[in-house]
Amino acid sequence: MKKIVVFMVSAFCALSAFSEIEVNTNYAGGNAVVKKIDGNEIFLEQDLRDTSGWWFYWSFEVKNAGGKEITVHFANKDVIEAHGPAYSLDGGKTWQWLGADSVKRQKDFKSVSFTHKLPEGADSVRYCLAFPYQMADFKEFAAPYASGERKNFKIYNLAKTERGRQNIYATFGNPNGPYKVVFTARHHSCESMASYVMEGIVSEVMGDSETGKWLGENVEFLIVPFVDLDGVEDGDQGKNRKPHDHNRDYAGVPIYSTVKAIKEILPKWGGEKLKVMIDLHCPWIGNRGGDADLQRRVFFVYSQETPAQKSNLGKLSKIFEGVTLKTPGAIAHSANEDIPYGQSWNTLKTRSSFKSWGLTLEGVEICTTLETSYSDVRGLQITDSSARNIGRNLAYSLKEYFEKTASGIGAK
Ligand SMILES: [Zn+2]
Repeated sequence: MKKIVVFMVSAFCALSAFSEIEVNTNYAGGNAVVKKIDGNEIFLEQDLRDTSGWWFYWSFEVKNAGGKEITVHFANKDVIEAHGPAYSLDGGKTWQWLGADSVKRQKDFKSVSFTHKLPEGADSVRYCLAFPYQMADFKEFAAPYASGERKNFKIYNLAKTERGRQNIYATFGNPNGPYKVVFTARHHSCESMASYVMEGIVSEVMGDSETGKWLGENVEFLIVPFVDLDGVEDGDQGKNRKPHDHNRDYAGVPIYSTVKAIKEILPKWGGEKLKVMIDLHCPWIGNRGGDADLQRRVFFVYSQETPAQKSNLGKLSKIFEGVTLKTPGAIAHSANEDIPYGQSWNTLKTRSSFKSWGLTLEGVEICTTLETSYSDVRGLQITDSSARNIGRNLAYSLKEYFEKTASGIGAK
């Protein structure tokens, strides 16, 4: 978060104040360690901070480069997504992908660079691994609902974070309906595309569509938009944070105040009506080709389910697949791409993750992770709007799940 200013020292540039390129990370979510600025070339790497091992989140702003063609070199392996870096010319309000053509990758993924010819007058441009999403974005999104008049939308204090921030959760829908549902995001702070999926879910429920009406009448929702709020605001990786990250904090006594509050509040709030809990994530970086491109999809992750819970998730996943296939232009989900428990990296033995903890709560039918690729699913871009559409399709799927398959209180 330190402001880093590096002035060019060549004789030519000493004559021209306009040539001083500045790299800044002093804003919410900023993350980069600048090594050198040489002419229009910037050399930097992601700031790993307290991460155990390697990860790939970064976010920085380049100033005074309007009209120039800049090249940014990343020293610590290939940290650029399938569609290039995300960039914003309006101070982080709107984002797009720069494109795969802007990127030069080393074959062995040891380093990577991108080149961008900035429009004249674009004197400040932000770049990020993906489209960022901060507390300020959530507050802006939730502002139209803040009066609480619509569908009982309410924001509550959740916990004071380790770094002194006030974390929050929100509830909406019908407290007297038969079902309760939880969505969480940013257990791993860098996984920002998950937040747009959450926006899509909330928009659908709060809206006037048939799905929104049904869910608003039959379900009360609780969302925790930023489990690792400090990591989100400070621009940490969050994933594999030492001594363990927020999604390895659910066994025993949590070390993070937010996780402690979630463990206390959710079961009390949900009681026996709490049926579905979905934790929104993004997977590994989707730039490696081969097997690593299995990351480029939208998939559920199974955990330590009972046979009934496993069957319920299978049903929801199939419904979700059907909904995405029916929606023209939608990012498709395929149930056979879900990750079974015990396969690949999905072998957690303890119940230290959110989903493995949630599965132990009385009456919970589904508690899972939904992973949404950072930038690409089969050639289609993940953007703010396509990620919101994934959330909308998940909301349609929930309605269908409850109507067709849910058991217990209120089931028809
Ligand atoms: Zn994650």
